Amino acid sequence: MTQLKLLPGKDRSLQNRHPWIFAGSVDRLDGRARIGDTVDVVAANGRPLARAAWSPHSKIRARVWSFDPDEVIDDAFFKRRVAAAIERRAALPELRGQDGLRLIHGESDGLPGVVADRYGDTVVVQLTAAGPDKWRRAIVGALHKATGCARIYERSDVDVRRLEGLEPTAGWLLGEAPPEAEALSIVENGVRMKVDVVGGHKTGFYLDQRDNRLLTRELAAGRAVLNCFCYTGGFSLQALAGGAASVLSIDSSGPALRTAAENLALNPQLDASRAEWREADVFNELRKLRAEERRFDLIVLDPPKFAPSAAHAERAARAYKDINVLGMRLLNPGGLLMTYSCSGGIGPEMFQGIVAAAAVDAGRDARILRRLAAAPDHPVALHFSEGEYLKGLLVQAD
Ligand code: SAH
Repeated sequence: MTQLKLLPGKDRSLQNRHPWIFAGSVDRLDGRARIGDTVDVVAANGRPLARAAWSPHSKIRARVWSFDPDEVIDDAFFKRRVAAAIERRAALPELRGQDGLRLIHGESDGLPGVVADRYGDTVVVQLTAAGPDKWRRAIVGALHKATGCARIYERSDVDVRRLEGLEPTAGWLLGEAPPEAEALSIVENGVRMKVDVVGGHKTGFYLDQRDNRLLTRELAAGRAVLNCFCYTGGFSLQALAGGAASVLSIDSSGPALRTAAENLALNPQLDASRAEWREADVFNELRKLRAEERRFDLIVLDPPKFAPSAAHAERAARAYKDINVLGMRLLNPGGLLMTYSCSGGIGPEMFQGIVAAAAVDAGRDARILRRLAAAPDHPVALHFSEGEYLKGLLVQAD
């Protein structure tokens, strides 16, 4: 097989089981490999290290499939890895009953570039790198076999694929769209939520915030809640379920807000009269709320990814700080701020620093009550800190 030879000393991160091989670590390719092909990775002294998928166009020149240099990468390999990922989730009782569940979380499940989310009897896959693109059929076959789901949809319509020399793509890989009448939905902690796998964000829903939405529900009783960047209303509906006195939700997306309204209608147990929705830019709307002298007891800030990579961190940091300053100024004394960043380019320490600086600017003394992260169906492999993209703080301000 074709060998990917590393430069002297560049096998360190691989020895530590980090699955990415950057272009700068590569000495040369001995033999021929097409995009996505499996290559043998060897150290400068010729010692076999791993088997990896070749990504000639990407800065991440190869991603490791197996740290066992003898493991055969074939259909059976994907069957094993997919089955293991799904089985892993059964370890936690809280994940067992979920009909919305991340089944495969990329590198942290030993499948770089592969995401799979289950919504009822539909699985949505996202393949973002050359290797998984090549093994699409094996991965889909393995998912079908392990879940029994008859519908599998691909949401690889993401720009990061261009860095791999791949076109964005989407479509049904198995089965077909359910009829309009039985639109896809899941029940999350007692609240029914629509999932638009074709047109929604990510694979249709932000499964990673499940536990944090539940925490919001636990904190909401009697409180005036403000949910910024509400998307289809996940935090808002959990706050209503928790007995919030009022819930004001803001998002700039009309379609997301329409789905939010449909979600509210799907849950007649919730008191819709306590919900108010605004289609607006959060940055502007928070200033407006201040001018209106509105105040809140619990504010959720769950913005989109402002920093896709470390290169964008500085500009993104300003945006994070702005919304956190604006949010803190709207908090009643003793109020709670639940603030998040899902930017890979901003680490937990940096995020804490941003929120601390925001408190200073807002003139508030505040403390961290809880550190928050993605739900455990989005695990972080110990050797892959990049997997820790979502971080949040529950802050109480004086
Ligand atoms: N909290 C949501 C997920 C938020 S995703 C959940 O639990 O499901 C981020 C949302 O921010 C998206 O819905 C997007 O439409 C919205 N958004 C992005 N930029 C915005 C802006 N400047 N003002 C308001 N909403 C914005």
